[in-house]
Amino acid sequence: MTAPQPRPPRPRPPAPGSPPAPEVFAGVDIGGTTTQVVLCTPELDVVDSHEVPTPAAEGGTAMVGAALDALGLLLARAPARLRAVGVGAAGLVDARAGRVLVASDSFHAWAGFEVTATMEAALGVPVFLDNDVNAFLRGEVARGAVAGERHVLGMTLGTGVGGALWLDGALYEGPNGAAGETGHIPGFGDLPCTCGGRGHLETLASGRSIAARYGERTGLDRSARAVAEAAGRGDPDALAVYEAAGAAVARAILITAGMLDVTTFVIGGGVGGAWTLLEPSIRAALTAEPPVSGHPLRVVRAGLGTAAVAVGAASRARTESREPLTPLRPLSEGTNSATFKSG
Ligand SMILES: [Zn+2]
Repeated sequence: MTAPQPRPPRPRPPAPGSPPAPEVFAGVDIGGTTTQVVLCTPELDVVDSHEVPTPAAEGGTAMVGAALDALGLLLARAPARLRAVGVGAAGLVDARAGRVLVASDSFHAWAGFEVTATMEAALGVPVFLDNDVNAFLRGEVARGAVAGERHVLGMTLGTGVGGALWLDGALYEGPNGAAGETGHIPGFGDLPCTCGGRGHLETLASGRSIAARYGERTGLDRSARAVAEAAGRGDPDALAVYEAAGAAVARAILITAGMLDVTTFVIGGGVGGAWTLLEPSIRAALTAEPPVSGHPLRVVRAGLGTAAVAVGAASRARTESREPLTPLRPLSEGTNSATFKSG
């Protein structure tokens, strides 16, 4: 089977004499099942978005082609001058080279794919690639629940547990791009982790782990979402599994706070959606073991929902394209935020 070639979008040319089309930045979130594309103003207001299935089994060319088709549709809907594009992709990426390094088994011919070069050739504008968790944190810092914060740990509790670190007003990736990977630090028991290690945070706080831990207690095969629903009905095993997940997340928060003096934490991902189940045990753990600094820790649920990665990718494109940045107001005020006083 031959994968379709990426087709460049064909925005309508402005009519003669009409004012110049507004400048936009695009953000692309290439996930395992869906690809989301947003168009943002230079202030990172989302003006339009479109979601398509990710043709993950058809390879990198098809996946980027689907993203380009979605972007072309958006540009045709409201003519705009595309300034730059940011892409957030699952897996390990080389952000400087704009290439995917390691992808999960569900992606065919994605590891090694030259994402930015392929898209730049099709679009004629700069394209920037980030890991999706880094893009998530960029989005939350730019326009989400932690807008304007200078020191933040972002955690995504999804199928796995991802993490990213924002220090001194910029993403801190570390020499190997692994900074903030709280999902795979040890000290959380002795259960085997998907990465081959043992006792990692992910063994307690990922969607897969919540399902597995519930299964061990009850013999039932339930998704993390179904376990959350059971907890909502008062199922003691479901409640205990979420309580353990929250306590483990709090432990990762305390380790980070102790190590780096980071005091702001934003939690997203599908499991993070069960905030009412996680929050009490996070609060209890932080109250029981306050950070030695004596400063209160601010822990909030992510504010941009499923748009965080795409908005964060657009934010990267904007940051790379225009300096200096002006402060932005948050998109949503913290209705689901909680500050934990300690000490
Ligand atoms: Zn691990």
